[in-house]
Amino acid sequence: MEVRERLNDVLARIHLSEKSSNRPKGAVALVAISKTFDADAIRPAIDAGQRVFGENRVQEAQGKWPELKRETPDIELHLIGPLQSNKAADAVTLFDVIETIDREKIARAVAGEMERQDRRPRLYVQVNTGLEPQKAGIAPEEAATFVDFCRSELGLAIEGLMCIPPVDENPGPHFALLAKIAGRCGLEKLSMGMSGDFETAIAFGATSVRVGSAIFGAR
Ligand SMILES: *Cc1c(COP(=O)(O)O)cnc(C)c1O
Repeated sequence: MEVRERLNDVLARIHLSEKSSNRPKGAVALVAISKTFDADAIRPAIDAGQRVFGENRVQEAQGKWPELKRETPDIELHLIGPLQSNKAADAVTLFDVIETIDREKIARAVAGEMERQDRRPRLYVQVNTGLEPQKAGIAPEEAATFVDFCRSELGLAIEGLMCIPPVDENPGPHFALLAKIAGRCGLEKLSMGMSGDFETAIAFGATSVRVGSAIFGAR
């Protein structure tokens, strides 16, 4: 199958899940995750009408997206991988949404760069719902305090929360936990669900799903 067909298949499944979860049509945005694929592999998705993409590494994204964004200026690019503070400047320059704000140091670095560059990417806080030591994200019990800190100390408008459930667990309880924390923080946006579990995520209230291999193929 071609990228265009797989993309349309994923979009159809998203719409079916919206319907079966009693969500309005268009309630869930598709972020097409293009990590490891080069510009030539990504262009068919852009040609098919997809505009929202995600990458997990700043440096890799710098190698392909400036040109793709010049070709198609209404692209919206999301950073979905861990951010180091020495990459904050580049991330603020290139990305339209940073989904992985997860600690004070990175929040400060991003806030400083937003001020310096007068560029305001939308921001999500990543929550480590499974408390996995190897995974980025703030601990669930610290999330509300951290969101408050970002808002009141740094003046950052946090748009929503993001999580990546442990691979070997039923994702439902993780999605439910993320939705509960968001409710507590007054946040309406939930970035959750990947190729293997995006329909479940939609049932639990995802407003965007991050789908890579189901569109671009195996990595
Ligand atoms: C790679 C990645 C995805 C997409 O994963 P697939 O299983 O290929 O859909 C989603 N979110 C994050 C954070 C990722 O790193």
